[in-house]
Amino acid sequence: MSRPLELGKYSIGVGDRFGQQARAQLEACRQAAGQGLEVTPVWNKSHREHAIVGTEPSSVQAAAAAAVAALHWRGRWHVDADHIRLETVEPFLACCDFFTLDVADAIGQPLPSEAVEEFVARHPELVGRLEIPGLPAVLRTSRADIEARAFKYLPAARAAGAIYRRIKQAKGAGRFITEVSMDETDTPQTPVELLVILAALADQAVPVQTLAPRFTGRFNKGVDYVGDVAVFEREFNADLCVLRFAIRQYGLPANLKLSVHSGSDKFSIYGPIHRALRRHDAGLHLKTAGTTWLEELIGLAAAGGDGLALVKDLYAAALARLEELCGPYASVIDIDPRRLPSVAEVGRWTAEQLVLAARHDPACPSFNPHLRQLLHVAYKLAAGKGAAYLELVRAHQGLIGRNVTANLYERHIKPVFLGQ
Ligand SMILES: [Zn+2]
Repeated sequence: MSRPLELGKYSIGVGDRFGQQARAQLEACRQAAGQGLEVTPVWNKSHREHAIVGTEPSSVQAAAAAAVAALHWRGRWHVDADHIRLETVEPFLACCDFFTLDVADAIGQPLPSEAVEEFVARHPELVGRLEIPGLPAVLRTSRADIEARAFKYLPAARAAGAIYRRIKQAKGAGRFITEVSMDETDTPQTPVELLVILAALADQAVPVQTLAPRFTGRFNKGVDYVGDVAVFEREFNADLCVLRFAIRQYGLPANLKLSVHSGSDKFSIYGPIHRALRRHDAGLHLKTAGTTWLEELIGLAAAGGDGLALVKDLYAAALARLEELCGPYASVIDIDPRRLPSVAEVGRWTAEQLVLAARHDPACPSFNPHLRQLLHVAYKLAAGKGAAYLELVRAHQGLIGRNVTANLYERHIKPVFLGQ
């Protein structure tokens, strides 16, 4: 067999709701390459996004391939079937080479007790003293601890195994990259739980290359991290130690790394993340998606005229359908309706006022994270405008593209991967 497909050490997941920004996104990776940094672009779009926008998975591959050709990109690149499950994987099989197996819903599902007994019997190393290099203290666990965690997480690992085997059957082993995600759930996973999960994934023979745990704190869409940064930093460092330990202990892929979902715009933790990557010589997958769609809106607003009118129109419609739009994203947004400006107020705004309210500049007094989050989930409304929306984006693509590239490169790639 040829060499298995491997995800590069540093990679960035980019989302492109309407398939117009692949080139502007790739340009950010090209700028990184100019600084001697290889950041692999991975275009991701979930089943949920495809369903809301009304697109087919193959459109993401086509847009990415066109951008790669246009910029003569010689580096690696991938297309990610984001947050798929056994029920939703089929249309992604032919056109993706990266699969994010979403097993959050399987956590805590019923499980025969023999499965837990079998797991604990197979993993005596998990019970008692656990010395993981790099952790400040030796972990101590009881058999009951490990059983309780196995009860909770084995169903998730088994679900990952089932999806993985379906993809392997269709594509062949080593022909795709496997990510396992558990971020869309309420409770963060502790380092011991992470270890149980990795042991269970190894038992399922899932060659996981990136794992998206639920970290402590809130990872709201398009806005900064909400939580205790010091706690996050400790936990993130501990997770990296656990991953390295699990690679050796369970024979998982040597490039196994963490994936940070809803990773865009988390400016206050980029410093800690960068330091941790340096300290542990670790890789990272930073998954972003909607931040590009917001730049599309910012570019349209900045254009004034018909562009600005459309963004105001979208905002008014979004305000009227607040609950419906926020529903599917409940665990990843926090909007205080009292902090949302009225339709009349936004109607009076200049292009600059709207841009400053929407653009993620935490130091700017006009920045409004509530408005930004609402616009984040409002892409369904733009999809409803169909060709009219796309025509407007194409008409103002120069301005939009510059915003998209600068946002990814200056606000994401630089602080996370270059430490600047
Ligand atoms: Zn996610």
